[in-house]
Amino acid sequence: MKKITIAIDGHSSCGKSTMAKNLARELGYIYIDTGAMYRSVTLYAMQNGFIDAGHNIDTEGLKKAMADINISFRFNDTTGRPDTYLNGKCVENEIRTMEVSNNVSPIATLGFVREAMVSQQRLMGKEGGVILDGRDIGTVVFPDAELKIFVTASDEIRAQRRYDELTAKGENVDYEDILKNVRERDYIDSHREIAPLTQAADAIVLDNSNMTIPEQQEWLLKLTREVVSASE
Ligand code: C5P
Repeated sequence: MKKITIAIDGHSSCGKSTMAKNLARELGYIYIDTGAMYRSVTLYAMQNGFIDAGHNIDTEGLKKAMADINISFRFNDTTGRPDTYLNGKCVENEIRTMEVSNNVSPIATLGFVREAMVSQQRLMGKEGGVILDGRDIGTVVFPDAELKIFVTASDEIRAQRRYDELTAKGENVDYEDILKNVRERDYIDSHREIAPLTQAADAIVLDNSNMTIPEQQEWLLKLTREVVSASE
């Protein structure tokens, strides 16, 4: 079966990574969580004093430090998904906190950050047989991807899903704070100058507000099989 490139873009917290991870497992593809990469840069910036409590970024300092930021993924047999490593340390839990969520979108507007992440993503996906989820995969990173999906859901449903995910991990979070964060990130991601979140002209839209995870999975697998057989 031909190995294609699959781009899954869309709004914050609408289950893109769950869809991508499950499809990758089903097809034996590599899954690249590009949001985890921007989150890792953000964590590094927070840990090294490049972001202060008022969310101000020391852009020059971070730019100089970019060469010291090494992000990689290692497959975790227990969770069935790749864990994110920052300079050799697993940061899978740390990058998912509200603190990181509150700082990541401004970091992801920086041109030098995007340049570094995009070139790494293109390198990781160059052989095909890969599924990437993010905001600019079908528009910028792999504009020639054979299958592009744009996922969305209502703000409230997305915030509830994020709330359930974080509380299940034992984080003490407030639903209203999450809703605000989801809306703010969508706004910044959609309005930034470089590679804004936008639907690629040839993307297929999925509003999964009222769909279960197995329903989404079935839809995506069927669509992928159709695209793969059409491209053979
Ligand atoms: O996908 P996730 O919600 O983990 O992404 C975190 C943030 O990283 C997004 O809100 C966005 O600001 C940024 N991002 C991006 N481009 C991508 C993936 C994520 O700008 N391809």
